[in-house]
Amino acid sequence: MLASPQVETDSPLIGVYLHVPYCRTICPYCDFLREPVVGAPPDAYVDALLREIDVYDGPVCAQSVFFGGGTPSLLTPRQLERILGAIFSRFAFENPEISLEANADDITPELLHAWQALDIHRISIGVQSFDDAALRHLGRRHDAATARRACAWVAERFGNWSLDLIFGARPVEAWRPTLEEAGRLAPPHVSAYGLTYEAGTPFEAQADEAIDEDTYLELYGLAEDVLGGCRRYEVSSYAVPGFECRHNLVYWQNREYAGFGTGAYSFLHGVRSRNMATAEAYLADPGAKGEVLRLSDAEIRVETVIQHLRLRAGLPKDAYRRRFGANVQADFGRELDALAARGLIEEDEETLRPTRLGFELNDEIGLELVSVRRVSE
Ligand code: SF4
Repeated sequence: MLASPQVETDSPLIGVYLHVPYCRTICPYCDFLREPVVGAPPDAYVDALLREIDVYDGPVCAQSVFFGGGTPSLLTPRQLERILGAIFSRFAFENPEISLEANADDITPELLHAWQALDIHRISIGVQSFDDAALRHLGRRHDAATARRACAWVAERFGNWSLDLIFGARPVEAWRPTLEEAGRLAPPHVSAYGLTYEAGTPFEAQADEAIDEDTYLELYGLAEDVLGGCRRYEVSSYAVPGFECRHNLVYWQNREYAGFGTGAYSFLHGVRSRNMATAEAYLADPGAKGEVLRLSDAEIRVETVIQHLRLRAGLPKDAYRRRFGANVQADFGRELDALAARGLIEEDEETLRPTRLGFELNDEIGLELVSVRRVSE
């Protein structure tokens, strides 16, 4: 690997995201940016990523690398080595977290060995369910036995790994046994999302099959209760203390990140931007932006509060004061009081944090606070 630049003391450490927008088949509920591919992603895409990394001129001190998708586990070890070589020659890291999302049916002992050799040390497995009928409902390629085998292989080799699960698929009753099985496998991290029926996906036509709100809240609450060793630290994320995803914390703490690849978002120097969102446009000019939005100071303050209130740790008032030179109560007192009166947040001298109800109805917190942004714009 090439020599890395040095981390400068006091430089804010950013997150680095790499989007791999290719999947072997397209799941009918998925509205992520992805397209079907046979075999590995094209080398032309890796070449484009390298060009984009080469022309990147933002902050270079970083804390994490996250390969997301799509399906990053389709990248060959050689492709991953090229991308990581470019990243490590462009960014300076201090004890980085390097994560890769993997589909259960891609995982083999040989690939895991190759990932370890590349210093990738956190694997996030797209399991979704340990129930064959639920996996069929979700249109996943793998079955429960494949998911179990993949988890066993990963658990044998990696101390830091995560399971992605989905609740609300049919049969709904499969959720508890899936959680119990996840609990027995004892991953240090779990992400659990409710099934959505997004516009433009094949599932849109089945939206009337969606579970009702009471069932949703019941299934959501089960995750916290059944997952034992992992505790909820963010609306949809559970971890053994110390295994929270450092990369995702960058988003939830509204810190800076640089995204590379088709449609990837960046947030740097108060500007949120998005790369070109079609493969054709991205390949033609990697690094060109399709969307650029400079956020006002008021917008960044609102987003910082909203994002922190996704976290069990909440928003340390002192951190807000240091970042914005203002008191969060002075900025949002009326809205925070209203949220507290509704039982959605609680506070003490030092911190604002969501209650259990605030986790369940987290969108309500965002809606209340976004109304301030509208007023102040
Ligand atoms: S859910 Fe994952 S594997 Fe399925 S199409 Fe979407 S990105 Fe690809």
